[in-house]
Amino acid sequence: MSNIVAIVGRPNVGKSTLFNRLLERREAIVDSTAGVTRDRHYGKSDWNGVDFTVIDTGGYDVNNDDVFQGEISKQVQLAVDEATSIIFMLNVEEGLTDTDYEIYEMLRRSNKPVYIVVNKVDSSKEELAATEFYQLGIEKYYTLSSATGSGTGDLLDDIVKDFPTTEYKDPFEGLPKITIAGRPNVGKSTMTNALLDADRNIVTDVAGTTRDSIQTLYNKFGHEFVLVDTAGMRRKSKVSEDLEFYSVMRSIRSIEFSDVVVIMVDATLGWESQDMNIFGLAQKNRKGIVIVVNKWDLVENKQTNTTRDFEKSIRDKIGQFSDIPILFVSALTKQRILKVVETAMVVYEDRKKKIKTSKLNEVMLPIFEGTPPPANKGKYIKVKYCVQLPTPSPQFVFFCNLPQYVKEPYKRFTENQLRKEFGFTGVPIEVYFRQK
Ligand code: GDP
Repeated sequence: MSNIVAIVGRPNVGKSTLFNRLLERREAIVDSTAGVTRDRHYGKSDWNGVDFTVIDTGGYDVNNDDVFQGEISKQVQLAVDEATSIIFMLNVEEGLTDTDYEIYEMLRRSNKPVYIVVNKVDSSKEELAATEFYQLGIEKYYTLSSATGSGTGDLLDDIVKDFPTTEYKDPFEGLPKITIAGRPNVGKSTMTNALLDADRNIVTDVAGTTRDSIQTLYNKFGHEFVLVDTAGMRRKSKVSEDLEFYSVMRSIRSIEFSDVVVIMVDATLGWESQDMNIFGLAQKNRKGIVIVVNKWDLVENKQTNTTRDFEKSIRDKIGQFSDIPILFVSALTKQRILKVVETAMVVYEDRKKKIKTSKLNEVMLPIFEGTPPPANKGKYIKVKYCVQLPTPSPQFVFFCNLPQYVKEPYKRFTENQLRKEFGFTGVPIEVYFRQK
């Protein structure tokens, strides 16, 4: 499971700048997939070959120190709960403030590794000014220059070095892992409890496991799978749950840990930006996706078109890949909840599916011959050979003479052909064109 690095600090100290810097490096290299939903507050990075997830708590900044007792402290607390390591950002221009002391006090008590970073140190004058931060009672800080970006290397060296080395032993290795994600009050708990035996005392089960994902082995209707959720999904958290920030933060860990993400949507509210964010998380992590429109019992005067129109409104917004299953259920009345499990299992199997190289070439090469990539500057592109990579989610490499000329629309065409020929319901596919 991925290590999570959270960046915390007062508003405007430069959290997002560092965040973007950490992500850009990576996105330039790995995440070149066009059309991927940009989730500004969360992303993948790596250093010296070690992957990690970065969270920018600043995406939800409130622009006022006075509200510290409210929002900032909640954000810091949540970062502390969810993260492996914490970057505490300070700003040399503004110096040390009361809020900084308060944040540091919370972090100090957390027992998590905390890296203190002083931003906007662009000259020796500022190097000197930064010594003010020793007043926090710290032994070490890192300085960053927002102008040049220097300093990140030393910081990352230390963060990555300190990651816990203990290997996580998955007690349910090899079993399908499903997480139910969605906005607060969409019905996740109701769904989870409906799936599990209602008479099981789930609350007692989860007490004490505040930080880790909870896994519940589930064996019913002929399917064996593991429901994964973060602490607080089944019992209401101590902090207010109605901010997007919390639902996203809580979703991150369980999504990363799962094979299939069931995204629950409230039928009375429709598909909104929060749903899109969760969708983006699942997609970026290349997880299988099932969209479940819950509370369908509350929709009155249903006509034959009602589901079709609702479904279309979602598909119009998610665009891209079209064969994500969309189900209409009621967790409360348990209507069609079995269908959710069955569909998630189909998606799970499709995500694992490996197409034999011979079969892949036999099917795809004639398609490329019939509809080749558009010629570029009079040069013709010929796809010669293809393979599926041995990755957890489907990724295909197409070898050709001039991969640099294969543009996004053609990649999408290729993806659609793969879906049409082989069926990858609800599964993000990666398509790469490479030089032979
Ligand atoms: P969570 O925050 O996503 O876990 O949402 P909950 O499961 O706590 O549900 C929030 C509220 O919506 C509760 O009052 C549920 O009883 C209600 N609810 C959940 N699912 C349904 C449904 O299918 N139909 C109706 N009418 N209400 C539902």
